[in-house]
Amino acid sequence: MLKSLKSLTQKEFLRYFGTDLQCTEFLENLKWQSGFCCHNCGNHKYCQGSKEKDRQCTRCRKIHSVTSGTLFHKCKIPIHLAFYMTYLIVTDKKGCASTLLAERTGLQQKTCWLFRMKVFKAMESTDRHSLEGEVDILCFTVDKLKNAKVGERKKIKEKVVLGVEEKGGGAARIYCKSMPYKYNTNIRNFINNKINSEAHIKMDKKVLAVYFSKNRDIMENINLRITNRVVDSIQKRIYGRYGYVIHLSAYLSETCYRHNRHRMKAEIFEDIITRMMKHEPSPYKALIYS
Ligand SMILES: [Zn+2]
Repeated sequence: MLKSLKSLTQKEFLRYFGTDLQCTEFLENLKWQSGFCCHNCGNHKYCQGSKEKDRQCTRCRKIHSVTSGTLFHKCKIPIHLAFYMTYLIVTDKKGCASTLLAERTGLQQKTCWLFRMKVFKAMESTDRHSLEGEVDILCFTVDKLKNAKVGERKKIKEKVVLGVEEKGGGAARIYCKSMPYKYNTNIRNFINNKINSEAHIKMDKKVLAVYFSKNRDIMENINLRITNRVVDSIQKRIYGRYGYVIHLSAYLSETCYRHNRHRMKAEIFEDIITRMMKHEPSPYKALIYS
C-alpha cells in the first residue's frame, strides 16, 4: 500500500491520476509487479508492443495490453475518467448515482451506470476470508423489481441469506446472498463457501429448520439485537437510496463490501482498482443479468 494513496482529497487524487498516462502507469505496476508472464504460453520475456505500455511476448508474439484480461478490458472510457468514477463511487457513502457520475465526467448516464456495475462486480466477495468465531445465519426478504413482459416490471419478494460474524457486541463482518430459487442448495453453498468450518454457527430456527431438519443440534437462537440491526441497515440502504432495485445481488455485494471495510475506508480505492485488475472481464450481459 502506498501511503500517499490513503485518504486522498479530490484535488490530490486528480494530481496523481489526472491523465491517462498516470493511470496506465499505475495499472502497469499493478499488473506486472512480480514480472511479466504471458498467459498464452507462460514465457517471461517480452518486447515493447506497437502501442505505448503494450507488451509483446517474444515467443508466441501475443500482445498484452495493461487492461486486457481485467474488468477494464475493452473499456471505451478514457482510463483517467474510469479512475475518477471509481474514486467518486468508493468515496461516496451512497455509491454515487450514475446521473451524478455523468454530470461530473461529461459521459452519458448509461455509460456511467454500466461502469458503476463493474465497480460493484469488483466488490463481490472472493470467498477467501470466511466468517469465523460466533456466526449468526438467517434469512430475510427484500422487495425487488423483476423484468416481466416487454417494457413491464413487477415487484417481487426475494429471499436473502445473511451471515453475521459477532464480535465485541456488534457485527464485525457480514456476507449475504440473494436467492431467486433453490433455497436449500443456495443456503448450503453459502455456509460452505462463506463460513469457516470451525465457526460456532447459530441459525434462525423458524426460517432455517426446514432446510436443516437432520442437523437440529446446530440450531440455537441467533442474536436478534445484532442481526435485526444488520437487516434493518441493509434494507434501509437498498430501499432508501436506490428505491426498489432490479440488480439486487450487485447492491448486496456493495453493501457487504462497505460494511466489512468501514474501518479501512482510506484503502478502498486502491483495493477496488486491484480487484478490478485481478477480476476476469465481465461482458455486458453478465453485468445486467446477474
Ligand atoms: Zn506467449
